[in-house]
Amino acid sequence: MKFEISVGARAILQTLMDGGYEACLVGGCVRDLLRGAVPHDWDICTSARPEETAACFAHRRVLETGMKHGTVTVLEDGEPYEITTYRTEGPYSDSRRPDYVTFVSSLEADLARRDFTMNAIALKLDGSLQDPFGGTEDIKYGVIRCVGDPACRFQEDGLRIMRALRFGASFGYKIEEKTAQAIRAYQKVLRHVAVERIQVELCKLLTGRWAGAILRHYPDVLCQFWPQLRPLVELEQNNPWHCWGGWEHTICALEAVPADLPLRLAVLLHDIGKPGCKSTDETGVDHFYGHAEAGAELADGMLRTLKFDNKTRERVVILVKRHDLPLSEYSIRRWLGRLGAETFFQLLEVKRADSLGQNSSMVKDWLAELDEIKAKAEEILAQQECLSLRGLEVNGKDVLEAGIAPGPEVGQVLNGLLEQVLSGAVPNEREALLARIPHRK
Ligand code: ATP
Ligand code: MG
Repeated sequence: MKFEISVGARAILQTLMDGGYEACLVGGCVRDLLRGAVPHDWDICTSARPEETAACFAHRRVLETGMKHGTVTVLEDGEPYEITTYRTEGPYSDSRRPDYVTFVSSLEADLARRDFTMNAIALKLDGSLQDPFGGTEDIKYGVIRCVGDPACRFQEDGLRIMRALRFGASFGYKIEEKTAQAIRAYQKVLRHVAVERIQVELCKLLTGRWAGAILRHYPDVLCQFWPQLRPLVELEQNNPWHCWGGWEHTICALEAVPADLPLRLAVLLHDIGKPGCKSTDETGVDHFYGHAEAGAELADGMLRTLKFDNKTRERVVILVKRHDLPLSEYSIRRWLGRLGAETFFQLLEVKRADSLGQNSSMVKDWLAELDEIKAKAEEILAQQECLSLRGLEVNGKDVLEAGIAPGPEVGQVLNGLLEQVLSGAVPNEREALLARIPHRK
């Protein structure tokens, strides 16, 4: 089999070999080449010790930041390449990185420390593979299998549980039976894993094409770091709109939304407030009054726990909070102005997914309504209609000149005028607006 190895990676492998060391590609790039995907980076491993690697590249730009863990980064053609000395890892007592690493001389020992068979294959420059754990076969059949005993491997580092799920969600591979059993048996170890590491894998999981299938089978894994999901997973809802429980509805909606991180997170969490807001009326029908607001608060806390950046967190929280917002032709301008165009269109995507996640005869009508709102919003934007104070044809100076005293009232008057424009009561024209300013001289 011929592999497309980047020119930069070839040059680095050759330089190490010219220095008298073993060197090969390893990890994600080899896996991706074997599954017919384009690698996004090229990890290289070598028998050379870090100082020896650095010496081989003395004529290039070398970053020595990871030397203690055996990693030297070389810039080749402006691209960073990580070159790591063959190593085994000590325990992960802080659950962030191994306490220590031990440099070893055999490639096979290095491959044995890796998480899954598909990630434990080395590729040499001559095109030969070293694959002691049958990773090639597992890639061929789409199987995620731990290297060694899954129970031990997950106890060593609980993050591997999340990694198994994220590879399942990204590639659509099946998690092999023993590995799957160990995930269920040892998922509690995730509670000790650094949240920053969990967040990285969760984001990849949620944006994976097969995220829904993984979430359907492994809700308990997510409940380890987000126990707030538990009541949603168990939520039954008896009302005319829903024939599914809370979790199945969430997954169907998630499968219907584009694989964009804030959208996927918002859909995952959109009904998180439902269990706490559930009431059942005298006819036995369930209601969830106030669940969007309550859910926004819960989502905020959950995203903080995993240390999401403020921008993502705030976006997701607003989408959860407004996912039930009734939108009519008349309120489009107001919400476009308040939320901003990007968030507004994301909200439409969330609403669309929420509709598609309901097995109701009304879905077609809801979707048609959403399409109309979207078209109308696009038209409003195309015509550059006034959506915020900045677009209003009068400003603070006009209000002062009309006799309003400087102070908070100026803003109140302007906002009042904006509301009237947004609702269509007044055209955004100077004269019409001036006439509406109270206490005009
Ligand atoms: P991606 O394509 O998303 O980068 P990847 O498999 O390359 O996937 P990385 O986090 O870049 O993931 O890790 C590189 C390699 O290091 C993996 O392929 C695997 O061999 C090894 N590895 C990473 N994390 C772990 C872990 N927690 N336990 C054991 N081996 C790991
Ligand atoms: Mg990688």
